Amino acid sequence: MPVTVRFAPSPTGNIHIGNARTALFNWLFAMNNAGNFVQRFDDTDQARSKQEYADAILYDLHWLGIFQDSIEYQSKRFELYNDAVDKLKRAGQLYACYETPAELDLRRKVRRTRGLPPVYGREALSLSHSQIAEYEAEGRKPHWRFMLPNFPEDPMQPERTEVSWNDLVRGEETIDLASLSDPILIREDGTFLYTLPSVTDDIDMGITHVIRGDDHVTNTGVQIALFQALGAEPPEFGHHNLLTAASGEALSKRTGALSIAGLREAGLEPMTIASLAVLTGTSENVVPAASMSELANLFDLSATSKSAAKFDPDDLKTLNRDLLRQMPFREAQDRLSALDIFSEKAEPFWLAVRGNLDKLSDAADWWRIVEQGPDTLPDLSDDDKSFVREAFDMLPPEPWDRDTFKTWIGAVKEKTERKGKALYEPIRLALTGLQSGPELADLLPLLGPAGIQARRP
Ligand code: GLU
Repeated sequence: MPVTVRFAPSPTGNIHIGNARTALFNWLFAMNNAGNFVQRFDDTDQARSKQEYADAILYDLHWLGIFQDSIEYQSKRFELYNDAVDKLKRAGQLYACYETPAELDLRRKVRRTRGLPPVYGREALSLSHSQIAEYEAEGRKPHWRFMLPNFPEDPMQPERTEVSWNDLVRGEETIDLASLSDPILIREDGTFLYTLPSVTDDIDMGITHVIRGDDHVTNTGVQIALFQALGAEPPEFGHHNLLTAASGEALSKRTGALSIAGLREAGLEPMTIASLAVLTGTSENVVPAASMSELANLFDLSATSKSAAKFDPDDLKTLNRDLLRQMPFREAQDRLSALDIFSEKAEPFWLAVRGNLDKLSDAADWWRIVEQGPDTLPDLSDDDKSFVREAFDMLPPEPWDRDTFKTWIGAVKEKTERKGKALYEPIRLALTGLQSGPELADLLPLLGPAGIQARRP
């Protein structure tokens, strides 16, 4: 069976860097195993789910470099879930319950005072026909629970029943089904909770590996039981640690914290975000991978830590600078063109400035400086002005290359007896209007003799 994974967000908001971690873990796992990646939108909650969010999620994922083999919406698959419901009902594994939340609450309290675990006691199983008729006459609608297989014969006598799996991240995990309430699969209003559609789809879509956040570990025992009740072999599971900002605050789709859209607008590169999202909280150093295949080589589910993956959002900025510093021209070329940077100078320009950018679009500022001169006239002392003029008079004839600067500055140094900051800074200021920036050796050939004389103070 080919490896098949899925990323299954609810389209109820924009995805953030923590959701991207889950998507990327699945994508890289598929890449490393020649597998398929299914995009599934868990949109059974039709009141909160919106197509515009689904579209925005697809846009964000494509921008990051994730390309789905198929895209599915749970809202179009209710027939399948109803078939699963029928199957469970026929097998007596799905039963109607009529308790109100207040009644359930009271029951839990009573159980606690008796020293019993606060799980649902399956009281609905002993309802008589007349009680059910009474409830229905009152207008009560049932919700439906899945009967966990945690008893040898009598469901009212559950016994310790271990469900185990070898988690791809966490190793051996065990859950006692007797420690859980029978989960509600269908609400009073007939809508599905997440569990049944998810398991039904995982079966129908041939999902071989469920890779998701460790906030789902406790659901897995129930889900394994449900896979088996529906006659399927459970897939493998891997639960990764969740990304949290250094403050420890959880990321949320609703608050929009660190959304992919926001990070994109801030000018971060997709591979910056992908590298941080994947490598934080693993045994690898967080370095900017230049491509998805480079990141895939660094990715190993079993090398992911079990504790929270904390990161400082400021690290994104540093990583982005590091990534741009190494970005080859061919990769930047189209985006530079879009910034009107496309002459034969574009490549040497890129190589000169790429080490000085917080974001790629900052290249436009340097292009303006190179093409048109400093944004603000440098404030040079009279002494520095005459020094710069003298230096400009000593410029060698063309052709110029990267070594021209070295020869020239050597001669200037000897003649004027200036050195260090006093030698370099007035020249840099005259040429760029700024105190720091690309290597002067790279800037010189870009400006050319005419460009430099135009900057004569
Ligand atoms: N829709 C669920 C979520 O976003 C999917 C969980 C899962 O991967 O099973 O949490």
